[in-house]
Amino acid sequence: MPNFFALIPAAGSGSRMGNELPKQYLTLAGKPMIYHAFRRLCGSLRLSAVFVVLAPGDDEWLQHDWSEFSTKLVVLECGGATRAESVLNGLRAAVKASSIGDDDWVLVHDAARPCLSENQLDRLMDELANDEVGGLLAVPVADTLKRSGADGRVERTEPREKLWQAQTPQMFRYKLLVEALSMAGGTVMTDDAAAIEALGLHPKLVLSDSRNLKVTYPQDLALAELILSNS
Ligand code: C5P
Repeated sequence: MPNFFALIPAAGSGSRMGNELPKQYLTLAGKPMIYHAFRRLCGSLRLSAVFVVLAPGDDEWLQHDWSEFSTKLVVLECGGATRAESVLNGLRAAVKASSIGDDDWVLVHDAARPCLSENQLDRLMDELANDEVGGLLAVPVADTLKRSGADGRVERTEPREKLWQAQTPQMFRYKLLVEALSMAGGTVMTDDAAAIEALGLHPKLVLSDSRNLKVTYPQDLALAELILSNS
């Protein structure tokens, strides 16, 4: 039976938050934001280890006490210039730090999604455990979508049928994910599934909901806090 691992790329600077502090360290419900992802992933008995990929020389990491996760959390200081590079560097370093088989599953989860529920995590693993390709949590698009023109006015309305918003975790087999991200080279990939798609494969969409939001803008922090306090 393949094992399950999680990997959190946390080497971003979070510039859209307009903050000096990388967003994974912003305080959310009294803890650094990334703490909440660790709590969920390290708390899952189904995950063998949780890897976190930091930017080299990340001093902020040392300012916090992570000892409650020490049995499962493995720190890798090999973040890259892009998210995809951080994930790929992390995967390559992880196999040296732990015994990961080619067919083991890796769940890549953004540090900026602190509200992942136990249900969402279990559903992802249950639905994909026997899948050939792997897949991701996602939500069907609810809003009407407008494409803007150069002047900030609506050029046209885009049909939203069959459109989904991709979330994380995204779950793929170790070897396939390394291959996909290596092949991606310099192409801009905003998630892991895009690298798998570039190989001609079709990741499965596993129904999630909007509570697993990505904290991107300052106003997202209050919403995430509300969701955490109700979960
Ligand atoms: O900036 P964005 O919200 O897209 O980042 C998504 C995730 O990727 C975050 O967890 C961030 O820390 C991580 N990231 C990274 N290395 C980069 C850029 C982003 O690990 N160079």
